[in-house]
Amino acid sequence: MSEKQRTMHYKKGETTVVWQPHLCAHSAVCVKGLPGVFNPKARPWINVDGAEEQQIREQVGKCPSGALSLG
Ligand code: SF4
Repeated sequence: MSEKQRTMHYKKGETTVVWQPHLCAHSAVCVKGLPGVFNPKARPWINVDGAEEQQIREQVGKCPSGALSLG
C-alpha cells in the first residue's frame, strides 16, 4: 500500500472519523464548516478535541467525496 492510500482513524467517544486522503476532492467543506477540527495546516490535521462529537459526525456526513466517513 502506498503512502497516499493510507487510512487514518481518529476516535472521539463513540465516534471514529475515518480519513482516506486519496479520496479527498479538496472542496474544503470540512475546513469551512468546522475549522477547529479540520485544519490542513496542523499535524495531525484532524483535531477531534475541536468540537462536540455530534458536530463532528454532522460535518463528516457532509464530505462530498467520501474521504471523511464514520467508522
Ligand atoms: S470535505 Fe471531504 S473532500 Fe472536502 S476537503 Fe474535507 S475531506 Fe476533502
